[in-house]
Amino acid sequence: MTSHIMPTYGRLPVTFDHGEGVWLIDENNNRYLDALSGIAVCNLGHAHPNVHKAICEQSAKLLHTSNLYAIANQELLADKLTEKSGMDNVFFCNSGAEANEAAIKLARKFGHSKNIENPAIIVMEKSFHGRTLATLSATGNAKVQLGFAPLVEGFIRVPYNDIKAIELALAAHKNIVAVLVEPIQGEGGINIPAPDYLNQLRSLCDQHDILMMLDEIQSGIGRTGKFLAFQHNNIIPDVCTLAKALGNGVPIGACLARGKAAQLLTAGTHGSTFGGNPLACSAALAVLETLDADDLITAAQQKGDAIHSQFAEQLKNNKHVVDIRNKGLMIGIELDRPCADLVKLALEKQLLINVTNDTTIRLLPPLIINTEEINSLVNTLAAIINTYTEQTA
Ligand SMILES: *Cc1c(COP(=O)(O)O)cnc(C)c1O
Repeated sequence: MTSHIMPTYGRLPVTFDHGEGVWLIDENNNRYLDALSGIAVCNLGHAHPNVHKAICEQSAKLLHTSNLYAIANQELLADKLTEKSGMDNVFFCNSGAEANEAAIKLARKFGHSKNIENPAIIVMEKSFHGRTLATLSATGNAKVQLGFAPLVEGFIRVPYNDIKAIELALAAHKNIVAVLVEPIQGEGGINIPAPDYLNQLRSLCDQHDILMMLDEIQSGIGRTGKFLAFQHNNIIPDVCTLAKALGNGVPIGACLARGKAAQLLTAGTHGSTFGGNPLACSAALAVLETLDADDLITAAQQKGDAIHSQFAEQLKNNKHVVDIRNKGLMIGIELDRPCADLVKLALEKQLLINVTNDTTIRLLPPLIINTEEINSLVNTLAAIINTYTEQTA
């Protein structure tokens, strides 16, 4: 039978029926260990009872009203998010791309408030910010942009993890109003910058009165061992975008702002029909409560480091492994060759992984993963990697 879905994804030949924690169960009752969490979405694993309960209760009361009215759950969620992040306020939307759209609009408004007529935003090579026209224009990946010209103007691209390059761009262009950057690049290959990169960027943004905008859509919500990855650096950005794990599978995005960035988007300048509706916010509130109650964020750091050292041990004699890197449970294993085929080989062993930037195995397991599951993940995947690099010369 032909599918009536637009072929925007190369889909794997498996359909899941339900989930339990880190496990996904297919239509034939096979159990798969999910080391991807739907790409950093289900940080609490699948079918989490707290999220289930919250959305059941909320759906019995109210799904949607409108942002024309105050929404209690949205106010509460904004209180929690600003308290946990040190930001001042929040615009709610439904996805990561939309959160970044809000950030981009906000940066342009900031520029115009300073009488910069043609504001530009510094963005990075190998970055990923989404699939809408503005966010794909900000993205540093030619494949994402191919076929969609003309791109949105107003982005200046520099190499990632290179403060000098940003200084040079600032010297060369007087219309720069913001820098948009991932604290750790996800799609780009789990690229972790120098430990003081964000600190230096913060200083530079202050010196030049431009906005520091962090895309925490993949790195946020506890994954790296802090609620937000920038909290490893003891800095606060001017703008921060969230989505993915915020609702553990219920679509919700957020653009957080602080200080001079917080009052730029005013009534009539931006909006969203669904953004921050009672249902989505009820899920996000349950996520934040559970992360804290179960101390999952500290655990993410320990679990990630355990996974790293176990892989280092089991892959130590494999000279085709270029690098193993992690910050908490954001984990990359880079090989010396393209390895997209590993995804299917792992699927055959009932393990769900991802390969990004051609040569990097990406692991984003749920934060609730336990020791036994970690052992199973590492043993299975290390064996697959070792066989693969032996067989592909
Ligand atoms: C996934 C992702 C996005 C896009 O989020 P969508 O919800 O797919 O629009 C943007 N930035 C980063 C860093 C991401 O990982």
